[in-house]
Amino acid sequence: MYYSKLLIPTLKESPADAEVISHKLMVRAGMIRQLAAGIYSILPLGLRVLKNVENIIREEMNQIGGQEVFLPSIQPVELWKESKRWDFYGKELLRIKDRHDREFCYGPTHEEVITDIVRKEIKSYRQLPVILYQIQTKFRDEVRPRFGIMRGREFLMKDAYSFHADEADTQKTYTQMAIAYANIFKRCGLEFKQVQADSGTIGGNFSHEFAVLANSGEDEIAFCETCGYASNIELAEARLDFEKTAPKGTEELKEIHTPKKQSVAEVSKFLGLASKQIVKTILLENESGLVAGLVRGDHEINTVKMRNLIGCEWLLPATEKMIEEQLGTPCGFIGPVDLNIPIYVDQEVTILENFVTGANKVDTHFMGVQVQRDFKVQKFGDLRRIQSGDPCPRCEDGKYQVKRGIEVGHIFILGTKYSQAMNAIYLDSNGKENPMVMGCYGIGVGRTAAASVEQNHDEKGIVWPLNLAPFKVIIIPVNFKNDDLKKACKSIYTQLSEMKIEVLLDDRQDRLGVKLKDADLIGIPVQVIVGPKNLEEGKIEIKIRKTQDSQLHPYPQCIQDIPSILKNL
Ligand code: ATP
Ligand code: MG
Repeated sequence: MYYSKLLIPTLKESPADAEVISHKLMVRAGMIRQLAAGIYSILPLGLRVLKNVENIIREEMNQIGGQEVFLPSIQPVELWKESKRWDFYGKELLRIKDRHDREFCYGPTHEEVITDIVRKEIKSYRQLPVILYQIQTKFRDEVRPRFGIMRGREFLMKDAYSFHADEADTQKTYTQMAIAYANIFKRCGLEFKQVQADSGTIGGNFSHEFAVLANSGEDEIAFCETCGYASNIELAEARLDFEKTAPKGTEELKEIHTPKKQSVAEVSKFLGLASKQIVKTILLENESGLVAGLVRGDHEINTVKMRNLIGCEWLLPATEKMIEEQLGTPCGFIGPVDLNIPIYVDQEVTILENFVTGANKVDTHFMGVQVQRDFKVQKFGDLRRIQSGDPCPRCEDGKYQVKRGIEVGHIFILGTKYSQAMNAIYLDSNGKENPMVMGCYGIGVGRTAAASVEQNHDEKGIVWPLNLAPFKVIIIPVNFKNDDLKKACKSIYTQLSEMKIEVLLDDRQDRLGVKLKDADLIGIPVQVIVGPKNLEEGKIEIKIRKTQDSQLHPYPQCIQDIPSILKNL
């Protein structure tokens, strides 16, 4: 491809609203342009990168028996009512009406559509399992679209769905998917972790995310370098150094005056006690009303763990207004004693004795509080958010590290949630009807490309890993008016093209400085720089984008070495 024939509108300045480096660089490198909030046009260079990601995904999906389909992006309301998600999905679902006033939505995901196909076309255990996937545009009306194509409203996703006769078979495909995903992200040149993720009401170890480590990531990943245990922080298990018997509180419950002392820090200073002797009562709301969560004063509550412990649909912080209206107590002095709502207690609170809590009265706390003796517990469990340095729950000596990550992929066992709601039934070998067991598996195509930029860049621009690079080699003539240079460049171009190496020839009449800057910005892995003096001496310069290492090589012989240079990058 000739540079002058391609639309590569590079920019010196980043867009004012760009917060992360991938957004800045993808716009500056002329790969993407914003049309509206969270809605992007993909320009030629950007599309070449996305196609590279797609092709890697396709190869790995086909490898494990996935069949590619292409489903409609506009989906009728009836299917979403059958799955009960029409009401549940909320504002992220873009709802639209056609000219006959019929309701549709723009698909944020395709479980309904795929289940509808499978229930109509697959009837027997002999036709199972089946893995169907597509690479399609999704629309989610995200509250805060940002970071360019990393969190768009319209975005490209690979979504796969598998249908099985039973749980064990689903598990098999799930494991194959996990391996395929790891291959995909390895081939994309990413440093990533496969982490245990929340599977909501389904529970169990049935959901994993693939997270690319990057400071700009919106997720927190907790992992142990010693044993390899890795989890989204939402689920990361705490290790409890159990004293098997519950302690017996020796002190009496005692009310104390704590004027204006509300926070753990204030109370602990005022009473001269360590913050771990104080227990925080956090009030939350779910579909059944208010609930309380208790954790040690030096710990934070993890609401995902708490939601799973309760087994509720949703769980959100209670508002101050709600707390005061329903309990008549100001926030800051809430405690479990005589609190008439379900109380969930972190396991580490169970081994405390004689602790301090709010007393549900202004400027008052209790000392000498004891679990069970002084208040009733609905359920105990692991409710705390782990921190860097906490002991690993899976090995003796390991410690947690917490880092930021970008979720690029998510695999999930759905069970029979959709097949039951939508009647996707098959006949087993005894002629008995059963609901199919399902799995679903997503990868953000654009997000994967953006995550790669987060990991691979320097102050000059993007440094594409070879497999994602829009071109593998860029030929940069010092002056394209010079006939000898032109001839040499065209000859290099032809030879590389014949070797099936994707090559870009910068045939623009611009100054060398401009061309070198652009080449660095767009991040093509190998630059071949052809200058008049070097050429006269039978040499050309080959520069590696990543290391900026530049060497003179004998021309024309060295062209034959380019494949091995690329291989060794
Ligand atoms: P997130 O928690 O980041 O909002 P999600 O859990 O809603 O993502 P899934 O429904 O699991 O995402 O979608 C599968 C994949 O699609 C994600 O792993 C991610 O790579 C990609 N993806 C999801 N939302 C977006 C978005 N708004 N923009 C770009 N890619 C996205
Ligand atoms: Mg997810």
